[in-house]
Amino acid sequence: MVTRPSAWLAVALRGLGPRQAKPARAWIAIMLGSCTAVFFTAALLDEAGLDPLQLGCGAVLALFCLAVIALTPARAASLCVIGPLLGIASVVVLDLGTDDAGLTGQIFFTMPVLYAAVHLRVPGSILVTVAAITGEAIVVLRLLPLDQALTDVAFTGGMLILMGSVLTRAMVNQHRLVEKLRRQASVDPLTGLVTRRVLDDAVSAISSATSDAGTALILIDVDKFKTINDTYGHAVGDDALIHIAAVLSARSRPQDVLARMGGDELAVLMPGCDYDTAHRRAEDFVRTVHEQPLPLADGRKLALSISAGAAHARQDTGSTRDLYISADTALYAAKRAGRGRVGDPVPINGTNPFSGTA
Ligand code: GH3
Ligand code: MG
Repeated sequence: MVTRPSAWLAVALRGLGPRQAKPARAWIAIMLGSCTAVFFTAALLDEAGLDPLQLGCGAVLALFCLAVIALTPARAASLCVIGPLLGIASVVVLDLGTDDAGLTGQIFFTMPVLYAAVHLRVPGSILVTVAAITGEAIVVLRLLPLDQALTDVAFTGGMLILMGSVLTRAMVNQHRLVEKLRRQASVDPLTGLVTRRVLDDAVSAISSATSDAGTALILIDVDKFKTINDTYGHAVGDDALIHIAAVLSARSRPQDVLARMGGDELAVLMPGCDYDTAHRRAEDFVRTVHEQPLPLADGRKLALSISAGAAHARQDTGSTRDLYISADTALYAAKRAGRGRVGDPVPINGTNPFSGTA
C-alpha cells in the first residue's frame, strides 16, 4: 500500500514514464540539448543585444540536460516526463517574451509531442499533448485577436492531437509485437519451460548475487529418446517431453529455474543450493521420472528414464561456462555408467571448483 505523497508521485511518474528508459533518456538529452543551443544562439544573435529571457531559458534547459546525463537511465525516468513539460513551458515563456505567435513560435510545440508519443507510455503522451495545446492556447490567446487565436488553437491543436495519436498508436503496436517476440523467444512452446536464453541470463544474474550456499546446476537428458520416437512416433515423444517437464516442475522449488536446453535436454538451476543438496535433488528427479511412467492412449504405460549431472559454483568462483561444462561432464558420466542415474563430478584440468569439495 502506497501511503507517502512522494511514493504516490513516484508511482504516477512510472505510469506516465518511458517505455524504455535508455533511449528515452538519450533522446530527452538530445532534444533539450538542441533547444538549449537554439536559445543560446538566438540570444547571441539578437540585434537588440543579449536577450536575458532567451539566455535564462537556455540556462534552465542546459542544467536540466546535465542532470539527465548525470543520472542512470532508471533514475532519469521521471525527468523524461518532466523534460517535455519544461520544454513546453520554455517555449511559452519565449514566445510571450518575443511576441512571437507566428509559425516559428508555434512549431516548437510539436517537438515535445513527438518525443512523448515515441518514448512515453500512453498516459504520458496524452499529458504532454494536452500541455502542448494548453501552451499553444496561452501564447495565441495572449498575442492574437480572439477569433484568430481560436482558429490557430483549433488547427494547431488538432494537428498535435492527430500527430500524437497516430504515432502513439504505432508505438503501442510495435511495443506489443516486440513483447510477443520476446515471450516467444523465452518460452519453449512444447513444454512451457523457459528457453536456454533465459537460463543463461539467470545463471549470470544469480552468480553475481550474494549467497553463501552458491548456485547449483543440474543437466538432464532423456535416455534412449530416439528409440521412443522410433517405436511410438514423434507425437508420443513430444508427450514424453511434456510429461517429464511436468514431473520435474512438480518436484522443483519456486526459486528454481527449469529450462529446456533443446532436444531432449533439460536443466534446473538452483540458487542458494550446495552441491550435496543438488546431487540429492538430481537423484530425486531421476527416481520420480522412473516412478511416473507416461500413460499412453491405449491404456499402456511407457516407462521413462533420465540421466542427470550436477555441478555447483560457490559465490564468485569460476565462470558460468565452467558450471555448464562440469554439469555436462557429470551427465555424460551417468550415460557412460549405464543411464538412469546421476553422474559423478569429473575434475576439469585436474581441479574442479564446481564439485562438492569446492
Ligand atoms: P541417450 O540415452 O544417449 O541420450 O540417447 P538418445 O536416443 O536420447 O539420444 P539423444 O539424446 O542424442 O537424442 C535426442 C533425440 O531427441 C534426437 C531427436 O530426434 C529427438 N528430438 C529432439 N527434439 C525433439 C522434439 O521436440 N520432439 C521429439 N519427439 N523428439 C525430439
Ligand atoms: Mg537423450
